[in-house]
Amino acid sequence: MITSSLKILSLPENLQKIKGPGSNFLPLSWLRLAFLAFLLFFLLLSPAAARELSPQEEKALFSLADLGPVDEASKTVVVETYIAPGPETAACRRMMPLVWNRVQAFYARLGVNLVLQKGGPEPGPLAPARHLRVEMLTHKQWLARSFKAFEVAPPFRLRFLQVCRDKCAFAHLPLSVIHVSFQTFQEAEARPKLRKDDQSNRDWLANLLIHEMGHLLGLYHAHEFVNDPVAEYLPDGKTPNFMSHEIAFKSKLGWVDFQKRMIHSYLGQGKVYQQYAQVNFDPLSYLALIKKYNGYREPKSGKKGRLQKKTGKAGNSGTNDLDQENGVD
Ligand SMILES: [Zn+2]
Repeated sequence: MITSSLKILSLPENLQKIKGPGSNFLPLSWLRLAFLAFLLFFLLLSPAAARELSPQEEKALFSLADLGPVDEASKTVVVETYIAPGPETAACRRMMPLVWNRVQAFYARLGVNLVLQKGGPEPGPLAPARHLRVEMLTHKQWLARSFKAFEVAPPFRLRFLQVCRDKCAFAHLPLSVIHVSFQTFQEAEARPKLRKDDQSNRDWLANLLIHEMGHLLGLYHAHEFVNDPVAEYLPDGKTPNFMSHEIAFKSKLGWVDFQKRMIHSYLGQGKVYQQYAQVNFDPLSYLALIKKYNGYREPKSGKKGRLQKKTGKAGNSGTNDLDQENGVD
């Protein structure tokens, strides 16, 4: 084995030695080999490597009735954290250490070890389920990144701004970046009638990150379907599910076992990871297939009305609707 490895390693040298008239073929085949190796490398890395499935295969893959074997041993995910410099995010810099404590403690209970790394302005080597990034941005930066991430061209940006109104966080494709507009968060928490002592503000920001991280760990909204195993509240009737939109100022969030198994299946490269890989980590395509093959039903539009009534406001209240409704948040 060692000898043959050495031979391979010294191949370019040999090529040099025998180079002469008529030897052009060898460098050419070397180039071909390098090209093929590059192609193979690219195909292995590329999410587009997902092959087309037969209807039966697709049905089997996207069924959530049986997630197959799920290893629930503790898993580690690296999270780059970046806070934009400047006065607009000064309060954020003060809050974040305690906020992250709460986010890490929540995920530790789920068996997920979030290892924080201080990130620079440009992302490191991000990868779904392994190396994620959370950006706390000025509102201007947040809008610019949202336009870019959602590929919004200038004529449509005004409309997109309407969609963004009152939103302060999105999880981005391919499920590896969360970016938060700290200004929008502050505006929401400063609204009249909302409590705003430091502890509950921190709880809210932590809950927002816990929720968004949930998307990056393979979960969809608790309110997405009416007949799936994920209710918006735990059986006690008062602890909100962390993937619901009822998370503002709540000091405690919960989950159901199904969500824990989904996270571990995703992080352990199990069935849920394969499902996302099949749709290139696009949550909208993912939801469509989950809905189709599990017979899940979306709530009637009246349900949203109920939430609005509960918070006494039309449209997004800021208390329960911090992110995008359509699964790309
Ligand atoms: Zn969400």
